[in-house]
Amino acid sequence: MKAIAVFPGKPDSVHLADLPMPSVDEIPGGRGVLVKVLRVGVDGTDKEINAAEYGAPPPGYDFLVVGHEGFGQVEAVGSNVTEVRRGDYVVATVRRPGASLYDLIGTSDMTTDDTYLERGINLRHGFLVEHYVDDAEFIVKVPRGLREVGVLLEPTTVVEKGIAQAYEIQRRLRVWRARRAAVMGAGTIGLLATLVLRLRGLEVTTFGLERKPYLNSDLLEAIGARYESTADVPIPDGARKYGPFDLIFEATGYSPVVFDSMQALAKNGVLVLSSVTGGDRKVEVPADKINLEFVLGNKVMVGTVNANREHFELGVRDLAQAEAEYAGWLRRLLTHPVEGLARYRELFDTLSRARGAIKVFCEVAELPEGAS
Ligand code: BGC
Ligand code: ZN
Repeated sequence: MKAIAVFPGKPDSVHLADLPMPSVDEIPGGRGVLVKVLRVGVDGTDKEINAAEYGAPPPGYDFLVVGHEGFGQVEAVGSNVTEVRRGDYVVATVRRPGASLYDLIGTSDMTTDDTYLERGINLRHGFLVEHYVDDAEFIVKVPRGLREVGVLLEPTTVVEKGIAQAYEIQRRLRVWRARRAAVMGAGTIGLLATLVLRLRGLEVTTFGLERKPYLNSDLLEAIGARYESTADVPIPDGARKYGPFDLIFEATGYSPVVFDSMQALAKNGVLVLSSVTGGDRKVEVPADKINLEFVLGNKVMVGTVNANREHFELGVRDLAQAEAEYAGWLRRLLTHPVEGLARYRELFDTLSRARGAIKVFCEVAELPEGAS
């Protein structure tokens, strides 16, 4: 069975690996689900893994099968699986439980362990392979009507978790009603964060680098959001014009934006940080001013990573609502399909070089036609 893998620690080592066909019996208690992989998205994390900045192989292997944004169809289930059946469309969560208390209660996204286990990222093989097996606990059903866009579920869950955390935190206020939001960054996560906030009825201003019009600004305007390029309207000006913002979702990958965002936040507001910034950038900031406004305004800032089953289920509902409200919009994010695992080179070249790419993904197998 073919798979796309890297040798962690060795830059640009992406290659085709061979794995034995898995079986549902590998999972104890009759809880195995065998999935035929249909589509797998790639993102900045995959780029970093292939650049050897990130990632580790599972114990006993010198390679790591990559791909954590999976989408597939159930081919077989163990005797004790009732949640999904053959033919169902599914997505698997990414992180697997470690040892902390949070892992034991189904919230491994909140682990306090030093090393975490993530399929396709750290110590566990991923989904860029023909078939995989996993415990039904980590398999989330996707309705057939979403199969064209199901590959967007995993990135959506990152957004769902961040926003769920924000609302959970804001229960401290008892009467908090977010009206104005800002999203920093107009890439895949920025677009999906804007979508989820629009579906909750917020007025959203999304900031990106490029000048409009371009595909991403068109997409944002199509769902009733405002797009501003920071080339014309730097964040502080944007905040004066359209803010202050009750909720800000930061997804630029550029850490200095965090400090601009802190200053664009309304009283009692919440700022969600989701950029994984591996570098060592330093900036000078007006520390007294930022601190004073945070203190006097009772503001909150929270970091968020990964997502658990609950966020995958929320993501399914929002993708469905998006299809109902903005039919065809999600499909427009699927800009760069690459057909077949054998074209792994092209997949990674597209990921690092294609201009205007929103979602680069591998069509591992064709979506089935007809009823199933
Ligand atoms: C993935 C998350 C993961 C994070 C850190 C992201 O690209 O989507 O599931 O937790 O990387 O490894
Ligand atoms: Zn990712």
